[in-house]
Amino acid sequence: MRNASTSRRPQLQPMSRNPGVRRPTASDLEIAGLVPLSTVDWPGRLAATVFCQGCPWNCEYCHNPDLIDCSMPGVVEWSDVQALLAKRKGLLDAVVFTGGEATRQPALAAAMAEVRDAGYLVGLHTAGAYPTRLRKLALLTDWVGLDIKALPGDYAQVAGVAAGGARAWAALDILLETGVDLEVRLTVFPDSKPAEHALEIAHEVRRRGATVFALQNARVEGTREEFANRPRDGWAEEWERLCQELSSVGFDELRCR
Ligand code: SF4
Repeated sequence: MRNASTSRRPQLQPMSRNPGVRRPTASDLEIAGLVPLSTVDWPGRLAATVFCQGCPWNCEYCHNPDLIDCSMPGVVEWSDVQALLAKRKGLLDAVVFTGGEATRQPALAAAMAEVRDAGYLVGLHTAGAYPTRLRKLALLTDWVGLDIKALPGDYAQVAGVAAGGARAWAALDILLETGVDLEVRLTVFPDSKPAEHALEIAHEVRRRGATVFALQNARVEGTREEFANRPRDGWAEEWERLCQELSSVGFDELRCR
């Protein structure tokens, strides 16, 4: 999807209420990729998936590391998304915005509003890096998959940003307040803080009010070499044990995948 010959588009404009400052439109969204049909990005829905460029974090298990660079322009035009939605009327349920970190981009709200106006549901994957933006975005969103990556004190190690923990856990509280349909996800991998604290994290997520939880086994495909080459001795058994252990937490729905 990435094409080095694609011309650079104008820099993102900051959100502003000042008159005279141009508000971002859907066409400003920097899109790194468009998957026309996904059955996995929103459980139970047929969705087109829009990959937004740029993420302020740097998780060791990121399987889209090319999408982290915030200075990289998009390679897919919004008009391609519009054309897909016009063509797939009645065949697709939804559009899922993912990344990178989709909420980084001020144009996301306009893009979501357009998708809604076109008659589709809107899904969002986020790691909660910009929690306060979620209040507004939740009004434009029908379902959110929120990554809780670790206990707050472990974000420096897991996501490369110490402040990320406070942000992500605040995002959880904000999303629960909005009442948007929510799946909280925790990604685990061998010899890691998320795996070590999975039960504690799940209990805290449940205590705060989330009812749907997904335990995700980090995929190796697409990850950087250091991560892909980590030893995985005994991991299959550990993964089974974690799935079993979390079934006692009391979520309405627990997904292990
Ligand atoms: S938050 Fe997501 S996109 Fe960003 S670095 Fe982590 S895994 Fe990759």
